[in-house]
Amino acid sequence: MIQGIGAASGVAIGKAFVLPAWEWDVPDRRMEKVDLAKEFERLYEGIRTSKTEIEVMKNEIRETVGAEESSIFDAHIAILDDPVFMSEIQGIIERQYKAAEVAVKEAIDHFVTMFDLLDDEYMKERALDIKDVGNRLLKHLLGTPEITLPSDTQPYILVAKELSPSQLVHLNPENVLGMVTMSGGKTSHSAIMARALGIPLVSGLESLTEEPLSTGDLLIIDGDEGTVYREPSRALLEQFNRIAEEQRLRKEQLQLLASVDAVTKDGYRMRLAGNISSVKDVEQAVKYGAEGVGLFRTEFLYMDRPAFPSEEEQFEVYRQVVEAAGGHPVVIRTLDIGGDKQLEYFPLFEEENPVLGFRAIRISLDETEMFKTQLRALLRASAYGQIKILYPMIHTLEEVRQANALLEEAKQELLRRELPFNKDIETGIMIEIPAAAAIADLLAQEVDFFSIGTNDLVQYVLAVDRMNEKVAHLYHPYHPAVIRLLRQTVLAAKEAGISVSVCGEMAGDEKALPLWLYLGVTNLSMSPQSLLRVKHRILNSTLAEGMEQGKHCYTLTTSEEIEAALTRWTKS
Ligand code: PEP
Ligand code: MG
Repeated sequence: MIQGIGAASGVAIGKAFVLPAWEWDVPDRRMEKVDLAKEFERLYEGIRTSKTEIEVMKNEIRETVGAEESSIFDAHIAILDDPVFMSEIQGIIERQYKAAEVAVKEAIDHFVTMFDLLDDEYMKERALDIKDVGNRLLKHLLGTPEITLPSDTQPYILVAKELSPSQLVHLNPENVLGMVTMSGGKTSHSAIMARALGIPLVSGLESLTEEPLSTGDLLIIDGDEGTVYREPSRALLEQFNRIAEEQRLRKEQLQLLASVDAVTKDGYRMRLAGNISSVKDVEQAVKYGAEGVGLFRTEFLYMDRPAFPSEEEQFEVYRQVVEAAGGHPVVIRTLDIGGDKQLEYFPLFEEENPVLGFRAIRISLDETEMFKTQLRALLRASAYGQIKILYPMIHTLEEVRQANALLEEAKQELLRRELPFNKDIETGIMIEIPAAAAIADLLAQEVDFFSIGTNDLVQYVLAVDRMNEKVAHLYHPYHPAVIRLLRQTVLAAKEAGISVSVCGEMAGDEKALPLWLYLGVTNLSMSPQSLLRVKHRILNSTLAEGMEQGKHCYTLTTSEEIEAALTRWTKS
């Protein structure tokens, strides 16, 4: 047995296919001084082609896997735009008269060695990104074809020194039973993609195997335990065949729950909706039994395009989403850019603290024409189904009032154009800034519903940047401060008689169920992949016991104790 890192859950059994290492043999070519301009042009052409290729892959992944996973490729484009990386390459060409490919190879080696020296998993994995992008650029400068994966053989377990997201894009999940990589860990981009694709992955085997794995070796890999067995005994094979079969059955059984109501054993009804970013996501959410859409993140509609989408374009998408939701409610959030999400055609100033800066509703209330275009599109689509409008990043009453005043203007404009819409369309706000939770009782007087965004709420309450791996160990959704604010928000909503749902990642964590039962949250919205797991948990719980457990957790004093208690309860 080889013990590595379990990076994507599940068991796979099959023959290994070892991917040849993607290394380039770059002859040390130099040129005449007069050719400098030509060499730079070659480099820029290579960068342009690489960027286009990455954009295509990104769109492909967005369609097939999901919007969040596709944003991995933004990091790759950022490397090609990175002034430090680029000036290293340009410097080598300019000062040493080396050919573009030689300069690129040397720059990659330089940064990869530098990052590898750091004792930091995160930086080591960023080194993989640089290699991936650099290799793509080299491919265009040298014209060497990409390695192709076997597609006509029996399904296999892919073994590689490392796997880049670019390589994973071309994988056919039908053919790949599992994956093993020598480098990488749980947070690498490949691990995120593997989890989204549902392919088991064991990483970090480097230096653990004396004899390298070879194509044709029979392997068992366990992505939960992080173990790899080479040429296993018959008894072990039988044992893992049983586990794999159980996992397959469990998946099938879970799928059967899609059409079952989410009710606890003692009859308490909950409603599970999907978080989506595109029309395609709705279909997936419906397949997994979502009762509507609890959060449509519209920013993805605004990305990868040359200008803001028109009213007509947006209307089309919103109409399609509400129609695909089959009569269930669809909560559509107005544009939430800024922070980590940027638009190419709407450059925002570099900010010292972007997540505390000009983002989301703050931009919409400043760019009122852009905002009203979106509101008109939403209103028009409301003639085709149950649409609710959700404002992000609200922290004052004035913001809600201003947004609603602009909504009123949008309605008047449509009335003048004699276009139909739902005049009583509901409006709600994200509770994701601590100030909003603190004045939830006041805000509840202004809106029809609350949607609690725990991802940002946790970030702001704990002052822990959700995107910063360096402080990831401090990001604790089960911190008592978070739970107190959740309680305060839910109580305020109930007091005012408005509805409340939770739409951050916590909603998709089945461990959190006792908290929802105790607080009286019945509406949860989560990524479609989590729906059946959470429903299964609800069906196997009782309101009485869950409430008691939630109440007990409320008395505990540290995140660690709370999380441990919830984990124990979930496993019981
Ligand atoms: C949240 O902040 O919890 C949320 C759901 O929104 P996003 O993740 O898009 O910021
Ligand atoms: Mg948010």
